[in-house]
This record gives sequence, structure tokens and C-alpha cells, in this order.
Amino acid sequence: MADEADIASDYNELMISRALGRIRRDTSIKAGPKLCGDCEEAIPEARRKLGFKLCVQCAEETERRNSLFANY
Ligand SMILES: [Zn+2]
Repeated sequence: MADEADIASDYNELMISRALGRIRRDTSIKAGPKLCGDCEEAIPEARRKLGFKLCVQCAEETERRNSLFANY
């Protein structure tokens, strides 16, 4: 007679490894482009992994512009 607990734990492991595989694929999709969308400077990999599409300078510039607009 098959042990149900063993079957359940196999199933859980399968689901977990599938979920981890999905998360890994998602992060690679979410990673931003290699070059800044504004000035086409290279974006550091750590920054891209966080989903940034702009280099540090352009992001700061955009933030400044946004905060100016926020005052209106
Ligand atoms: Zn830039």
C-alpha cells in the first residue's frame, strides 16, 4: 500500500520547484534593458534586476521633473 504522506510530499516538492522556476523566469523578464531608455548609457546589472529602465542620472532627472509637476 502506497504511503499517502510520501505522495503528498513528492507533490509538494514538485509544486515548489515549479513555483521557483516560474519566479526565476519572471525576474529575468522583469529585468530592465541593458541601456538607459533616455541617454542610452549602460545601466548597472544590479539596477536592471530591480526593473529600472533608466540610468541613475536620468532617474534622478525624471524624479526631479515629477516632483516639480507634483507641485502644481
Ligand atoms: Zn540615462
